[in-house]
Amino acid sequence: MSLPAAPDDTSQHRAGYVAIIGRPNVGKSTLLNRLVGEKVSIVSPKAQTTRLRITGIVTRPGTQIVFVDTPGYQTAHRSTLNRLMNRSVSAAIEEVDAAICVVEALRFDERDQAVMNLIAPGLPAVLALNKIDRVDDKKRLLPFIERLAALRDFAAVVPVSASKGTQLEALLDATTSLLPPGPAPFDGDELTTVSERVLAAELLREKLFRLLGEEVPYGTAVEIERFETRGGLRRICAAILVAKNSQKGMVIGKGGEKLKTVGTQARHDMERLFGGKVHIELWVKVRSGWADDPSALKRLGYTE
Ligand code: GDP
Ligand code: MG
Repeated sequence: MSLPAAPDDTSQHRAGYVAIIGRPNVGKSTLLNRLVGEKVSIVSPKAQTTRLRITGIVTRPGTQIVFVDTPGYQTAHRSTLNRLMNRSVSAAIEEVDAAICVVEALRFDERDQAVMNLIAPGLPAVLALNKIDRVDDKKRLLPFIERLAALRDFAAVVPVSASKGTQLEALLDATTSLLPPGPAPFDGDELTTVSERVLAAELLREKLFRLLGEEVPYGTAVEIERFETRGGLRRICAAILVAKNSQKGMVIGKGGEKLKTVGTQARHDMERLFGGKVHIELWVKVRSGWADDPSALKRLGYTE
């Protein structure tokens, strides 16, 4: 009588890093969060919300994938921040085992092409056509898939809806098959490699993007000045940096109302993600030119 194979046979285990790339606003961060099952990367209807490389870890039986969300690759706005963000995309893609290239279903232009060109010819890649929930006539997807499949040798093309969670198993399966064999580098319950400090700053930035008008958030940054954990309580002091004096009032709002809402909403997200109580103190500082100041950018975490 022969013994059955051990179910946790590590020689069959696969693990690796996978970059999620695409032009701004195609839904990369939404996809990452949906795959991980928690909000590790911030999302907004405004383009260029993601500035840092954020990771999300997905652990399934036999596989662990560390997804790397990247800022949308910029072709305009030549600030030092944008240059750093582009370098961060290029660097991310050099370090990974595979890539998921995200485009919007039925929308492909030269910005998508520019991103696709960043993927080295030898890097295995899956093409995800996102936002298929917006496509009523699914027959229109076929010629679109054919057109894109001709541009590069993708291992698979998977239509998905990140916000609805459609077809994500298929995307995970296609991605898993591109990974090398190896043990899981992280514990199964870890969601990200990013520090709580950085996640806190990002969640505050997301609220600024959501609650403020068009012009303010792009000139805004969040600097965590103190982050202390005692028992189950996290105490966070953060400064919101704005570019101009006139923006200070907009962030604070009438009677401090806007700032309060930013803090409350960010706190709810943090308590969920960190699994404990959070106390936030916020203030607003005018600091012009931070997006072109290398030392300020370094303090804010925008390094290569
Ligand atoms: P990123 O810039 O590529 O990271 O894009 P985000 O994840 O921030 O998403 C940009 C916008 O697209 C947000 O308003 C999302 O809610 C929206 N979005 C993302 N995925 C989907 C989807 O599958 N369907 C629809 N209809 N909208 C989506
Ligand atoms: Mg994003």
